[in-house]
Amino acid sequence: MRADASPFILSTVKVIANVNVMQSRARAWKRAGIKIGFVPTMGFLHAGHLSLVREARKRVGKTGVVVVSIYVNPTQFAPTEDLAKYPRDLKHDLKLLRKLGVDLVFTPGDAEMYPGKMENRYSTYVVEETLSRSMEGAARPTHFRGVTTVVAKLFNLVLPDVAVFGQKDFQQAAVIQRMVSDLNFPIRIIIAPTLRERDGLAMSSRNKYLAVEQRAQAVILFHALSAAKAAVKNKSFSAAQLKKDLKEFLTAAPLARLDYVEFFDPATLAPVAQVKRGTQMALAVYFGKTRLIDNATL
Ligand code: AMP
Repeated sequence: MRADASPFILSTVKVIANVNVMQSRARAWKRAGIKIGFVPTMGFLHAGHLSLVREARKRVGKTGVVVVSIYVNPTQFAPTEDLAKYPRDLKHDLKLLRKLGVDLVFTPGDAEMYPGKMENRYSTYVVEETLSRSMEGAARPTHFRGVTTVVAKLFNLVLPDVAVFGQKDFQQAAVIQRMVSDLNFPIRIIIAPTLRERDGLAMSSRNKYLAVEQRAQAVILFHALSAAKAAVKNKSFSAAQLKKDLKEFLTAAPLARLDYVEFFDPATLAPVAQVKRGTQMALAVYFGKTRLIDNATL
């Protein structure tokens, strides 16, 4: 395979950085009737990412191939966000992926994905217009446009039969499912559960930003979800009341600053007035400049 010539080879896992080489490889697999499982990531991999890779392998079996992309996509970051300092460790990522028996790692560069973007020569974007409006979309107005655009591009390059996303980014998974359905991508989307640290904090590449004190208090997101889950077990509450209660609850973590909390229907993402068992809860909380998100079905 051409990947052997890649300058990014740091282990025996095959790496392709070139978009045309990637697409040719995928087309060859398709012609041979080989099933392709795909996990898109921004790298700095943790056990949560690896669980998606295992899920992809389960879906395509031994005769299929699993492709993982590692690409910190600039179009999903606002100019004020952490694009430049987003954590990266390709060498370590490749080691982890090799151990898992991943067939190919796709590591395109910006010049490959968005040629001429700086000179405004890149001009096509994919925009989902309903599910992407609230929560993360409201807090980060250009975020989902970047996500749907890059995922559509990656789908066209990797040609997967199955793609696995994490429930950790619940809204993102819903937006991608909608895009796949609306644009008729022949791809099955799998949503895999959120992996957590021992204390309950959802694993995230951004946890690395947290100072010791912040890290200790960050578990408040999980505790808030757990408390809400327990509360609605046999009873319903008004969303307005629960939002107030949550603000009070968060005072236990003085370094936490609430960005948003929402209670919504998991299928439509429409906010609900009355919160009960089965309602989806999502929240975003700042610790200093670090913004953490988490969610759960209550
Ligand atoms: P990222 O590298 O943050 O873009 O994430 C790549 C994929 O991993 C996305 O589908 C995420 O939802 C998923 N993911 C991130 N954190 C977790 C986690 N703690 N458990 C399971 N999946 C996750």
